[in-house]
Amino acid sequence: MAACVVSLQASDIPIVGGPHAGTSPHADVAQWASMFPDCGGQMQSPINIDTSSTSVSLELQPVELAGYRLDPREQLRLENNGHTVVLELPSSLTIASGYPQEYRASQLHLHWGSPEGPGSEHTVDGRRYDGELHVVYYNPSYQSIKEAMRQPGGLAVLAAFLQVGPEDNEHYQPLLEQLPEVQEKGKKTTVDGFDIKGLLPTSLSRYYRYSGSLTTPPCYQTVNWTVFNQTVLLSQKQISLLETTLQGDHEELLQNNFRPTQSLHGRKVLASF
Ligand SMILES: [Zn+2]
Repeated sequence: MAACVVSLQASDIPIVGGPHAGTSPHADVAQWASMFPDCGGQMQSPINIDTSSTSVSLELQPVELAGYRLDPREQLRLENNGHTVVLELPSSLTIASGYPQEYRASQLHLHWGSPEGPGSEHTVDGRRYDGELHVVYYNPSYQSIKEAMRQPGGLAVLAAFLQVGPEDNEHYQPLLEQLPEVQEKGKKTTVDGFDIKGLLPTSLSRYYRYSGSLTTPPCYQTVNWTVFNQTVLLSQKQISLLETTLQGDHEELLQNNFRPTQSLHGRKVLASF
């Protein structure tokens, strides 16, 4: 089963557990490092972003995306893997600017909390947001994402915080309306192609950048993280649907699928603004 960041070709990557391993997201995170040494490393994700200690870098150009308006005839696979809901993306979706090299898309997935509390993975000045979108990319100079995920800088993740706002976010409807179709772990369906860029914030110029890891085993420390400053607003109804529809490993509701924040161990967090 694939890691947080892997393109869920389930047979590709022999990972125990998967994106958010375990029956309860927090039940076994303390044990991850015994099976996956990188999980105990010094460049782990997610982190709390302390905005007073970030460094502004003028080299961080606005993120530019290419190829995100997909034809409805293009069918995208959506899967409940027991740890999150994963939408596979064609590699024709790229990050054209904002990193020193091009990255190509693999998949996207979400993290969320429960009606009792928020569930983003990253926090900002200690604040946890309602949810978090991760769009996962690999460096195409490697032959596959499986190879890229083991190489420094092999992966990039664009992360955006989800927050309750006053109205439905129509961009999320193609994804959310299919959640009941993948309620049980292992269920798959397809989603008609739509404008994937609409899932991200409208402003892609203000963001934080740091070197980190997959947030699930094997926790490889190969991810170039971008965490956008602008949040994405969904209605309360949409967030509630996310929090109360999917089931995990043992038919329990899949909730709070975030990893606790990890120590920086001296890493610098850059800001583009
Ligand atoms: Zn993730």
